[in-house]
Amino acid sequence: MDIQESNTIQTIYPWQFDAWNRLTSNTKNNRVAHALLISGAKGVGKYHFATAFKNAMLCSDKQTDGLACGKCRYCKMQQHPDFYEITQEVDERTNKKSNVIKIDQIRKLIDFTLLHTHFGMAKIIIIHPAEAMNKSASNALLKILEEPPQDTYFVLISDQIQQLSATIRSRCQIINIQQPDIDTSMQWLNSQNINDNIVSLCLELAYNSPLTAKMLAETNYIEQHTKLIKNLLSISSQSEDPMVVANSWLKIDTNVPLHALYSCLSDLILLKSMENNPKIINNINRDSLQNIANNVSFTGLYVILDKIVFAKHQIQSNVAILGIYEDILNLWQRLTSKIIQ
Ligand SMILES: [Zn+2]
Repeated sequence: MDIQESNTIQTIYPWQFDAWNRLTSNTKNNRVAHALLISGAKGVGKYHFATAFKNAMLCSDKQTDGLACGKCRYCKMQQHPDFYEITQEVDERTNKKSNVIKIDQIRKLIDFTLLHTHFGMAKIIIIHPAEAMNKSASNALLKILEEPPQDTYFVLISDQIQQLSATIRSRCQIINIQQPDIDTSMQWLNSQNINDNIVSLCLELAYNSPLTAKMLAETNYIEQHTKLIKNLLSISSQSEDPMVVANSWLKIDTNVPLHALYSCLSDLILLKSMENNPKIINNINRDSLQNIANNVSFTGLYVILDKIVFAKHQIQSNVAILGIYEDILNLWQRLTSKIIQ
């Protein structure tokens, strides 16, 4: 199976082969459950997997590997009338995505399930993220899952299945997509033409999720991250001023500096607590970080770490971000600059 994206998904990721083969053998034996719950960590391609299943179920000429052909009239439809998708709605006025999937959405879905299939094949419904359903939406869905209409298949997607009600879970066949091991992820990223020099850093920053790593590699994230780490080291060596750096960070999405700081602190704690070259995120700056780690106290590191964690909460409640950066960077300088000559 080749790995490439297209309108109709005719490929799945290498780490999904086992789950896919199990599912397609059920499909061939007509044992596929009317409700699937696709679970797994963020960034393992759950939606991709669900879409591959949807495409295959609606295709009239499925391939031997169970994937859609991509050529038949059903595969070529831009909007297949037997497919229905539910996710959080976006408010037209504020352009903000709702946190929840509401009961009205499930009510509309019930109307859809009452229709006959247009082409005598199947009707597919994807609900994601399933844990966003509020209680009434979840109860309404449960009623349909208890007596699923003929030829109708529900695919729920969730990276937090423990937040779904036990009764919903018990109605679904759970398909868990495992996070691939590092070697598989590296191999796949290499096959995606990602610059060899940054593959490892991307994967570390993405907590080993290959899809997130690919996304980081394809944006200017790594460039920004590298610059931020350089800023931190320069503040320690007193060649950059915390206030100036804090100001320059305002131009960047807040997640990037906080993630960079967090990666730096987690590296320092590892370098301080483990001998024998522990695996760290910012390996390219290992020498400078080791120098800081050797001389700063654990207490100092945890004080900074606490501030970063607290900053994450503050940012959500719209506290002025400049003050937060200045606070952290001043503390960073105070605790780390004495030791670098
Ligand atoms: Zn087809």
